[in-house]
Amino acid sequence: MTEKLTGKLFLIVGPSGSGKGTVIKMLQSKFRGFVYPISYTTREPREREKDGESYHFITKEKFKQMIAEDDFLEYAVVHSDNYYGTAKTEIMNALRQGAVVIREVDIQGFHSIRKMIPKESLVSIFMKVPNLNDLKGRIEMRGAIEPEELQRRLDSAAKELAQAGDCDYQVHNEWGKMKACVSDVEGIILEEIKDLY
Ligand code: 5GP
Repeated sequence: MTEKLTGKLFLIVGPSGSGKGTVIKMLQSKFRGFVYPISYTTREPREREKDGESYHFITKEKFKQMIAEDDFLEYAVVHSDNYYGTAKTEIMNALRQGAVVIREVDIQGFHSIRKMIPKESLVSIFMKVPNLNDLKGRIEMRGAIEPEELQRRLDSAAKELAQAGDCDYQVHNEWGKMKACVSDVEGIILEEIKDLY
């Protein structure tokens, strides 16, 4: 993709349970002018998750139809089971219009998007956690989870952590220090967009 984009896309990357969703929610309440696109997934909603808020929850059939219609900027099968994808139109239009766009994706999504969005319009931030045990606790805290699903997420986490260095920035989310982590992410974003306006 060689077209000139005036906005900037921030990808928040990191293992399941590293706090990406919480960071984005906190940014969302503070920076209302940024764009926070909602992805599509074939996984079941968790308790308290509503369609159109956390995700657009769709069937595998519908997801495959969207793939065939070239609706996704990227999509991936995450934790060897479900599809997740970012819709192309919303993100690209926002970037063409000069917006700051913030989206969490898994490491595969990051690698795909990196090939499509010019370097100067893309910033990746990897969220690290102290250890896998800590991560396990956080995933369990989000709600009931089958042991196999938990294991799949921990396996993915180990692979993702090994690729943290591919991202532009790494931030640490220590237990009980979410505010500090959000403030680090905020600092990166504000520094990266200071010449945008
Ligand atoms: P969860 O099921 O916990 O909401 O998400 C599982 C993983 O999928 C997380 O690492 C999350 O960041 C990632 N994810 C969420 N949306 C997307 C997306 O649109 N594309 C990709 N590639 N990964 C996503």
